[in-house]
Amino acid sequence: MVKLLIATHNPGKIEEYEELLAGLPLELTYPAQEGLDIEVAETGASFAENARLKAAAYARASGLVALADDSGLEVDALGGEPGIHSARYAGTGASDKERYRLLLEKLREVPWEERTARFRCVIAVATPGGQVHTAEGICEGIIAFAPKGEHGFGYDPVFYLQEYGKTMADLPPETKNKISHRARAVQRAREILEEIQGKLGFPRR
Ligand code: IMP
Repeated sequence: MVKLLIATHNPGKIEEYEELLAGLPLELTYPAQEGLDIEVAETGASFAENARLKAAAYARASGLVALADDSGLEVDALGGEPGIHSARYAGTGASDKERYRLLLEKLREVPWEERTARFRCVIAVATPGGQVHTAEGICEGIIAFAPKGEHGFGYDPVFYLQEYGKTMADLPPETKNKISHRARAVQRAREILEEIQGKLGFPRR
């Protein structure tokens, strides 16, 4: 089977991609597995730019088709923050818990109806030859007043879904993987992967 490099070190994302890309005739591989140790500076001004930078750098370095995901949380009451800074919110080296606690603190005085937010995910798929395609998915929700739930990662414990009456971290992974921003981006990314495979064939190494 040909390989697809999932260009992330985030264990939460890796677990989700294993499930979301199941069934494709591709063997998923990861930077550590390929002996790749590259740092990509996320200097873009949008999720799409950062996803493109990561996917292109990993495809070039590995000679494989690479899929990168740039994602985060946009909170309306904070003008869209943390946005592309979601991973570094509360400083480098902070934990997921420290990040969502900072968010809850900033929203302490904000009433329920103004706590609207969305997760956004942009997936970029790059070929070693330099072609890059992107796919986007969003998931709308509300920032809860307190964390709840044990599943998922990142801001999932404070992201409340009206239609389920639960936080994202309270949903079983198979439900998150049906409705999440990442699941929605993957629906379109699957078509991109099929197109690349059909047109070029994946490079074998
Ligand atoms: P990235 O690795 O630069 O794309 O940063 C993504 C950051 O956004 C992560 O560190 C999480 O804090 C947050 N994030 C992205 N996707 C999710 C999700 O599915 N659930 C919760 N938090 C997420």
